[in-house]
Amino acid sequence: MKFGTKLLHNGNEIDPITGAASIPLYQASTFHQADIDHPGEFDYARSGNPTRKALEQTIAELEGGIAGFACASGMAAISTAFFLFSAGDHLVVSKDLYGGTFRVLTEVLPRLGIEATFVDTTDLHKVEMAIQRNTKALYIETPSNPTLKVTDLRGVTRMARDRGLLTMVDNTFMTPCYQRPLELGADLVIHSATKFISGHSDVVAGLIATQDREIASRLGGLQNALGSILGVQDAWLTMRGLKTLKARMDTSSVAAMKIAEGLKRIPSVENVFYTGLAEHPGHALQASQASSHGAVLSFDLGSAERVRQMLSQVRLPIVAVSLGAVESILSYPAKMSHAAMPAEERVARGVTNGLLRLSVGLEDADDLLNDLEQSIAGRRLYSVGEEWRASIV
Ligand SMILES: *Cc1c(COP(=O)(O)O)cnc(C)c1O
Repeated sequence: MKFGTKLLHNGNEIDPITGAASIPLYQASTFHQADIDHPGEFDYARSGNPTRKALEQTIAELEGGIAGFACASGMAAISTAFFLFSAGDHLVVSKDLYGGTFRVLTEVLPRLGIEATFVDTTDLHKVEMAIQRNTKALYIETPSNPTLKVTDLRGVTRMARDRGLLTMVDNTFMTPCYQRPLELGADLVIHSATKFISGHSDVVAGLIATQDREIASRLGGLQNALGSILGVQDAWLTMRGLKTLKARMDTSSVAAMKIAEGLKRIPSVENVFYTGLAEHPGHALQASQASSHGAVLSFDLGSAERVRQMLSQVRLPIVAVSLGAVESILSYPAKMSHAAMPAEERVARGVTNGLLRLSVGLEDADDLLNDLEQSIAGRRLYSVGEEWRASIV
């Protein structure tokens, strides 16, 4: 069965009790036990809830795993997975990393005796050199944020397997629609379902999928012990969003390609980062391990002044953190996701003062490109209908 069909027919879409075409909100924290000697499948909703279970089985199905876990946020999912490790353990982690994950790895886990080394995982030799006697896992983000560096997933999982290490992949940018790390040998895949998976800027959620029975059992225990569960309403909204994942991702990715090419033609845009462009260093690798280049791109306007001027004029994308929504989102990493990083370190990672990240939504690609071109050029022709928006921002 192809992915688009699986999104709608994966065995978790119809309520087994009533036949309802949408899994109901089982808004219950506890479940009556008719026979205390033979407890039912559900007893207390931290351990299990039918609505959450439908989402958990769906993500397992879509990623090609045997078990899934829905957590209160992407960071709850990532932190729960990090509790697989113990004092004295060491992780090798992609240097280009989501800021929240970096914070847990540098401010929280060291207090518990778990250490991490950050390396450029696009270079397998550097990954190998960073592995220590006490290394337990490789933690990868690909394509990375915001300059979209691509790590060889087959290469890292092979290296990890040879050494008895786990491979964990943050698959938020690609989603199982385009990239399925478990099928390439990874042990765990993690999502901020806040982004493309739910897709409408209305939920904060996290998901984990694994194909390993022992890890699944330990993660289930951790999710219950830590209580990092996703609430019922948000599980329902995530499933609702997930049904249109392919339609949304495909439309946005086609538009992203068009916009990347359009931005390249603007002389004042100094750099465009999108793996769909043939000159991107990760272009061929991305094409070999994912079925699309996705809906996120970034571009460099050269200076903070130009960024300010553009953001004051742009009309269609909202200017905000986050990504992966039906509306396009323009982020300024230097002041948003990477604000906490020292300027030198930030610029060394390609997050310059002129860099903007665009998550392409479902607006018409020509309208979006037009809006970007005009706001970059600073010669916007205001139309009456646009005035209201200017007054909000
Ligand atoms: C947003 C994001 C996270 C964190 O997810 P939350 O849902 O915000 O907790 C983790 N990884 C990546 C790549 C993200 O974009």
